[in-house]
Amino acid sequence: MMRDDYVQPIVSPVVWPAERPKAYDVMVVGAGFAGAVMAERLAAGSGKRVLVVDRRPHVAGNAFDHLDATDILIHRYGPHIFHTNSREIVDYLSRFTAWRPYAHRVLASVDGMQVPIPINRTTLNALYGLDLASDVDAAAYLASRAEPVDTVRTSADVVVSAVGRELYEKFFRGYTRKQWGVDPSELDKSVASRVPTRTNTDDRYFTDSFQAMPAEGYTRMFERMLDYPNIDLLLGVDYAEAREAYSHDSLVFTGPIDEYFDYRFGRLPYRSLRFQHETVDRDKFQDVAVVNYPSEDIPYTRITEYKHLTGQVSTKTSISYEYPSVEGDPCYPIPRPENQALFKRYEALALAEPNVVFVGRLATYRYYNMDQVVGQALATYRRLSAPKSGNVRPATVIERKQVVYSE
Ligand code: FAD
Ligand code: UDP
Repeated sequence: MMRDDYVQPIVSPVVWPAERPKAYDVMVVGAGFAGAVMAERLAAGSGKRVLVVDRRPHVAGNAFDHLDATDILIHRYGPHIFHTNSREIVDYLSRFTAWRPYAHRVLASVDGMQVPIPINRTTLNALYGLDLASDVDAAAYLASRAEPVDTVRTSADVVVSAVGRELYEKFFRGYTRKQWGVDPSELDKSVASRVPTRTNTDDRYFTDSFQAMPAEGYTRMFERMLDYPNIDLLLGVDYAEAREAYSHDSLVFTGPIDEYFDYRFGRLPYRSLRFQHETVDRDKFQDVAVVNYPSEDIPYTRITEYKHLTGQVSTKTSISYEYPSVEGDPCYPIPRPENQALFKRYEALALAEPNVVFVGRLATYRYYNMDQVVGQALATYRRLSAPKSGNVRPATVIERKQVVYSE
């Protein structure tokens, strides 16, 4: 087994600080989807001089992918599958990448078998030795097991009311407790609602109209987005350091909103992950890109085999084990009412912050997929660059605006 120890070079050499201008129109904190879209739009769409700063030594944020020591393209921060129903978002990203069509499929390791998740008719037939032949049969079977809940409020309610307690315990309870560190009964219904229940045999994880992977990987796509004359890139540098060194008229912040305000009201809880990347000396490790392990006896939640996502051919294969953790980079905002209430207090500060916009999963404390973050950033840019009625200034002026995206 080999450990990943090789990182592809990033697009622009990082020169700190001598060879840069000292003044920018906009500083963008974060080179993930939120930051890269905002930077590209402000530079290419509005002619702004933009400095993008990220404390990580690479672009692409959590979507960062790179070749490992065996030249297999892996995702440093876990499997990222692009899926959306928005033509606008696909068209925008398609300026920077071609696509490899890919339909994501996931199996769950349950009762010594690997069966489709989301639960579908095949799952039920395999697990219980049934012969449910139609959607109607499967729906009737699930209805006989479901435990109706008056008000569906929590993630436990969502699943128990759809498939009953036994299937909930097999597929959801352990996985969720590992993933979030809390019981599904204490987690907002929006979390488990991400995973549907099916009565047909569709075993795709997502049903969006567009499902694909960037043909040369996410990092290459980000490199193209940021490769623009008006955009400078500063990697491996924290905002706290950069903000003193480079003057800027306005700021786009895509990091954690509580960090921006020095945790004034206390920390917003985030869930983190630790990834154990390995390469194994055989050409295939598992049947699909991701196998979930819901049992609490197993410390990781899932194993990803990257070649399924990329279509790469190699005599070896690279995989990663995903261990949820409290410590580490913030990965997931935790959807619970009290966390949302705390976020709202920070949001009020954000709305009053002059010349700063907050965009992205961490800055708006939302459990967003990549396409949603792209959509949020495009909408934010549109709002910033829209002419105000009766305003005779150029449409692109963004000084003195106080904008926070809200749905
Ligand atoms: P990020 O990608 O987190 O970027 C924020 C950047 O800001 C980071 O690079 C960070 O280093 C930088 N930063 C923060 N604070 C500072 C600071 N003070 N100074 C300098 N830099 C700073 N979405 C999908 O659509 N499909 C998937 O399959 C999918 N899988 C996922 C799997 C995992 C394990 C995780 C965690 C997320 C997944 N997502 C997926 C969600 C996806 O990662 C996010 O929607 C998206 O990456 C968010 O982009 P962002 O720019 O908001 O945040
Ligand atoms: N989930 C589960 N078992 C599974 C898959 C998902 O319990 O096999 C729950 C779990 O709480 C997870 C949530 O559903 O966090 C959302 O799943 P999704 O695959 O969307 O999570 P992500 O890809 O965002 O980590």
